[in-house]
Amino acid sequence: MTPLAYDRSFIWHPYASLKDPPPVRLARAARGVEIELADGRRLVDAVSSWWCAAHGHNHPAIVEAIRRQSERLCHVMFGGFTHEPAVELARRLAACAPHGLDKVFFADSGSIAVEVAVKMATQYQHAKGRARRTKMLALKGGYHGDTACAMALSDPDGMHTLFRGMMPQHFFADRPTAPFDPTSLLEQVAAHRDEIAGLICEPLLQAANAMNLYDADYLRLLRDIADENDFVLVFDEIATGFHRLGPRWASEFAGVAPDVMCVGKALTGGHITLAATLASGRVAETISNGTPSAFMHGPTYMANPLACAAACASLDLFATADYAAKVTRIEGELARGLESARALPNVRDVRVKGAVGIIEVERLPARADIDRVIDAHNVWLRPFSNFIYTMPPLVSDTATIGRIAAALVDLASAPPGPAADDGGFHE
Ligand SMILES: *Cc1c(COP(=O)(O)O)cnc(C)c1O
Repeated sequence: MTPLAYDRSFIWHPYASLKDPPPVRLARAARGVEIELADGRRLVDAVSSWWCAAHGHNHPAIVEAIRRQSERLCHVMFGGFTHEPAVELARRLAACAPHGLDKVFFADSGSIAVEVAVKMATQYQHAKGRARRTKMLALKGGYHGDTACAMALSDPDGMHTLFRGMMPQHFFADRPTAPFDPTSLLEQVAAHRDEIAGLICEPLLQAANAMNLYDADYLRLLRDIADENDFVLVFDEIATGFHRLGPRWASEFAGVAPDVMCVGKALTGGHITLAATLASGRVAETISNGTPSAFMHGPTYMANPLACAAACASLDLFATADYAAKVTRIEGELARGLESARALPNVRDVRVKGAVGIIEVERLPARADIDRVIDAHNVWLRPFSNFIYTMPPLVSDTATIGRIAAALVDLASAPPGPAADDGGFHE
């Protein structure tokens, strides 16, 4: 059995069926902005492998950091031990995080970082003697991950409705918009104040569920509401952090800092899984003064040294070049490159912010058209729901962005395909 035939019969891929699964490509290497296939073809990774590969694939500095660390210590349990890469990474994260977020909990994926944030909010209220405050207030249209608690905070009408019965129930305000409309948020707070432990959102860009850019005033309102009611404000910057939208954090657009922040994805530059939940001193202290005093979470591979070393090297790269300027350049190139898509019959809207380019279509083209465009341009795209989009590596040069934009416009020119039985939610 060839590797592809074996894969097809025995291995689940993300959001895929084992019955007549969509095709997968056999990758054998990756370097810079390109993924190399087993047949030698190279595809530009216009998705940054799910928005992680900020510095490009297999960056020599990150590979070297992992190699060097692997010779000394690949892993040690974080219960009862610590190590240099974790200490170094925590220091650096605290130094670049929004003001006051200097307490660090390492998680093994973004979803877990969200679960940890929600447990922090709950434990904070518990420590303050407010046992009824166990719910989060989230925003419709959001996405926070695939584990149970993270799904429960994601769009209630989105890709996870099938699991409604087993998920914890939270509160939702209407999908945030541009321009700003505070009505639904204020209503939800007024109705559920005594049950809310914290507020959570993806700042400025609701990515994996809605590709929705919204007004920064929402973030300022959330900050005010949290202050007035002593809610824990959580910003999930897993997709938006590390310059995806331009500034290091999307919260900078609003000039407010959260009480708890989740980071992941580009943290290691897409080399190895790692995420973190950062908390303010006030949140950490309150939890620590409660009963139990311990924060009740601890993954087996917590603060894996290889991952921490990779993240330190990734943060070094972010520090040695002006990524905000790179992203400003990419933003201009994407805006110009995607503009012509506006006039296409299947296109509803074109949106660009930072290194995110979105063409919203009435319906995605058929699978065959998607594959045809990928192969014609040698540009890897992964459209979902109603979105043909790119989140390219932040090191993409002008020619690469031009190729990506041309591929997106070509795909948006294809006729709408059949409706998907899963709503097309295969981000
Ligand atoms: C991807 C993502 C997550 C989940 O991260 P995983 O590493 O896939 O678990 C959570 N929140 C946001 C905003 C994301 O984009």
